[in-house]
Amino acid sequence: MPEGDTIWLAARNLHTALAGKSLVRSDFRVPQLATADLVGRRVLGVTARGKHLLMRIEPDLTLHSHLRMDGSWHLYRPDTAWAGGPEFEVRVVLAVVDWTCVGYRLPVLELLPTSDEHLVIGHLGPDLLADDFEPLQRLEAARRLRADGARPIGEALLDQRNVAGIGNLYRAEVLFLSGVSPWRTVDEVDSLPGQLDRMVDRARRLLLANAGRAAQVTTGDLRPGRTTWVYGRGGQPCRRCGTRVKQAEQGAPAYTRITYWCPSCQP
Ligand SMILES: [Zn+2]
Repeated sequence: MPEGDTIWLAARNLHTALAGKSLVRSDFRVPQLATADLVGRRVLGVTARGKHLLMRIEPDLTLHSHLRMDGSWHLYRPDTAWAGGPEFEVRVVLAVVDWTCVGYRLPVLELLPTSDEHLVIGHLGPDLLADDFEPLQRLEAARRLRADGARPIGEALLDQRNVAGIGNLYRAEVLFLSGVSPWRTVDEVDSLPGQLDRMVDRARRLLLANAGRAAQVTTGDLRPGRTTWVYGRGGQPCRRCGTRVKQAEQGAPAYTRITYWCPSCQP
């Protein structure tokens, strides 16, 4: 599942390739946009909001996409082979003279007036990767989490309405680094003064640290197989104490994700 930093990096790369240029190809392969044609229109910019990607196109159009579990955007130079997946998984192709961008397996892909963006992202909590996160958005994120006090912290952190940008990997890693079990309620976490705020700060630091690169590393160790503390490591020994890392599904039906934790380090 893509995390906020993955989307942020995708948006930055798309922005660098497309912003200020006119589209020379527009090929939508989803039924609802089959007749849309953006050729000749200029791309104003591409930005990420939580896990949503917004491509703004003149005069007042936004191409909104969400990657969900395995969608992705790829950039290719003209005349290079596409490598993001089989052709039938392509949902959209947009090109400027020197770049072709291809969206694969995008479960959400829609055009809307830029002035209506709030309809698709207005529900989101503060974006952990926003430049203006400090200090007000930080307070707002903690406020929204506290308002969700009865829920397990592992669920509350993943809910993009509380705070936007945390996916499954950072959820597991932030909780490990905080020494908190994903099954504790938000209220229990908050009973220790400052703990909830530190958790939000930690999530932002991890996302920022990884935002500029394709790798997602929380251990400081870039070597393959060593990049995370507990995420993806069910049944393996905890890097800190040697206890076997546990894994279990967490969340309401249809929203369940596997979470990982060390029962000793995260009692
Ligand atoms: Zn441990």
